[in-house]
Amino acid sequence: MKKFDVIIVGTGVSGLFAALNLHNDRQIAVLTKAALNETDSFLAQGGICVQADDEDFESFMEDTLSAGHYENNREAVAVMINQSREIIEDLLQAGVEFDRDNSGFSYTKEAAHSRPRILHCKDSTGREINSRLLKKVQELSNVTVMEKITVTDILSENGRCHGVTVRDISGKYENYCAQATILATGGIGGLFKRSTNYSHLTGDALAIALKNKIRIRDISYIQIHPTSLYTEEPGRAFLISESVRGEGAVLIDKDGKRFTDELQPRDIVTQKIYQQMEKDQMPYVRLCLKGYVKGDIAKRFPMIYEHCLKQGYDITKEPIPVTPAQHYFMGGIETDLNGRTDMDSLYAVGETSCNGVHGKNRLASNSLLESLVFSKRAAQDINRNRHSVEHPIFPEPSEFSCEERILEDKDLIMSEIRKGESNAGEH
Ligand SMILES: Cc1cc2nc3c(=O)[nH]c(=O)nc-3n(C[C@H](O)[C@H](O)[C@H](O)COP(=O)(O)OP(=O)(O)OC[C@H]3O[C@@H](n4cnc5c(N)ncnc54)[C@H](O)[C@@H]3O)c2cc1C
Repeated sequence: MKKFDVIIVGTGVSGLFAALNLHNDRQIAVLTKAALNETDSFLAQGGICVQADDEDFESFMEDTLSAGHYENNREAVAVMINQSREIIEDLLQAGVEFDRDNSGFSYTKEAAHSRPRILHCKDSTGREINSRLLKKVQELSNVTVMEKITVTDILSENGRCHGVTVRDISGKYENYCAQATILATGGIGGLFKRSTNYSHLTGDALAIALKNKIRIRDISYIQIHPTSLYTEEPGRAFLISESVRGEGAVLIDKDGKRFTDELQPRDIVTQKIYQQMEKDQMPYVRLCLKGYVKGDIAKRFPMIYEHCLKQGYDITKEPIPVTPAQHYFMGGIETDLNGRTDMDSLYAVGETSCNGVHGKNRLASNSLLESLVFSKRAAQDINRNRHSVEHPIFPEPSEFSCEERILEDKDLIMSEIRKGESNAGEH
């Protein structure tokens, strides 16, 4: 059995930022079931929201609430917006280089934003942020970062979390004890046939929560992104960032006609695309950049340009086929505004958590921001509550019981989601 002060499960932005904000006299383990950079955070393209100026608070709030169908936790939204500039300052300190123009930061706009307030690093914002944070964490002597370690359960007794059970790459199980545990395991895209997420993101923390009767929330609130590149190949769907539409690209039907306002909230645009696909009897609609996106398209969206070119499409010259794909999970393990779950010493942050900030539908580019704001608050909460307890003696985990639990739990999540869908009217 290993012992730490804090265990963080996940190397996306939420897990890493929590590690950076914990006091450096604490022994911290940061674990991931995959390679260090195999996180959805690394894939984030469009950018990160920030309150653009003092006048922007009200309109940022209204855009977030309106996209979320007014089901958001307003207090959480206010906290997120109020802390947004501080978070951007932290990222600049960590070395993140946002794109700039002659007047300073270059802000872009995405669907359902009433004004430009999104900072970006070309079309690889997540890669820039996640790799800078990872480098900072790797410099800390009090943090042990471990790859290919899968958390299969938590250790708990009398309503308190004492750490996690893990499985290493050889299949060996072990218990890791900690005074505080942070679940930062990301989304659930791996449970879906077509998703923009990494396939290893299968909602493991959610399954663990369901097993251990930890409160969950809004589990049927799943965001389908309107535009992923259409392909008949299996595997992760490649996202065509919302900022492409934000900068002018239009959606066209099989006859080349525009059929909707591209800058409505994601769930509405997705619905319109599905309706058009049905009308056209086609598995996709098309997205046209040429003639609509101003400036040098290949320079503004280099990663999307390269990827599409490899697939046989030149976005500077022709429309590309796009279709919706599962993208984001608004629901999750219920937390308060400091990432606390209803189990003592167990925190959840990032996409696996839910404090209601996104309501029923997340506003574009609010996810990186929300992950950073609330993981910092969780770390600060742990810093304030430093009392240690003696860990009980937990039995050595058996291979059979752990393996079986994880397999069962995938079905458990999907059946909970379906249950949530049938109760959707009650939310
Ligand atoms: C293609 C794409 C583009 C996006 N673009 C944007 C954008 O422009 N702006 C924006 O705000 N948001 C964007 N998002 C959403 C955003 O990137 C994510 O919501 C956010 O990064 C989630 O961060 P996270 O730290 O919660 O999880 P992740 O970054 O997904 O990290 C999850 C971590 O948990 C680990 N893990 C999972 N299960 C286990 C387990 N059982 N044991 C051990 N480790 C485990 C994983 O290996 C990984 O390290 C995008 C998402 C995608 C997929």
